[in-house]
Amino acid sequence: MYRCEARTLLDSDVQATAELMPTAFDSIEWVSESVGEYLFRCEVEDVPHDHHAAFLRNGASSEPCTDVYLCWRDESGPQWLADGEVCLRAENPMASGCTIFRGHPGRCDWEYIDPSMVAAQAEADQSVREPGLPHLFTSPGKGGA
Ligand SMILES: [Zn+2]
Ligand SMILES: [Zn+2]
Repeated sequence: MYRCEARTLLDSDVQATAELMPTAFDSIEWVSESVGEYLFRCEVEDVPHDHHAAFLRNGASSEPCTDVYLCWRDESGPQWLADGEVCLRAENPMASGCTIFRGHPGRCDWEYIDPSMVAAQAEADQSVREPGLPHLFTSPGKGGA
């Protein structure tokens, strides 16, 4: 029902290995510009799974599309990389596929609930519903700075 709560920081040796992996594109697209400080969160649904996995960067193949996933079992345990085919097995109403690796445990990433995502979405909906609120267009002002 909910997204797995497991988190980890990328090991610098694993990051160095990931930098050497080939890419099918002009440049590597990392999950974040500051990958080393980025707290990776497992993308799998919170059902029993062998290891945790989070998107790290784009993969070595564009067809079929692969992504490099950071895999781990315990926060302090060893990490490894998997260049795996992306799930994408169905399209959700927003017309985007599932970003988890093919054959992942649990449901696809739009089918389970990620509480932090729900909160972010609720906030986004709020600003869409109230586009003309005066506070969005007026600032306290500091003498025309
Ligand atoms: Zn997990
Ligand atoms: Zn999926």
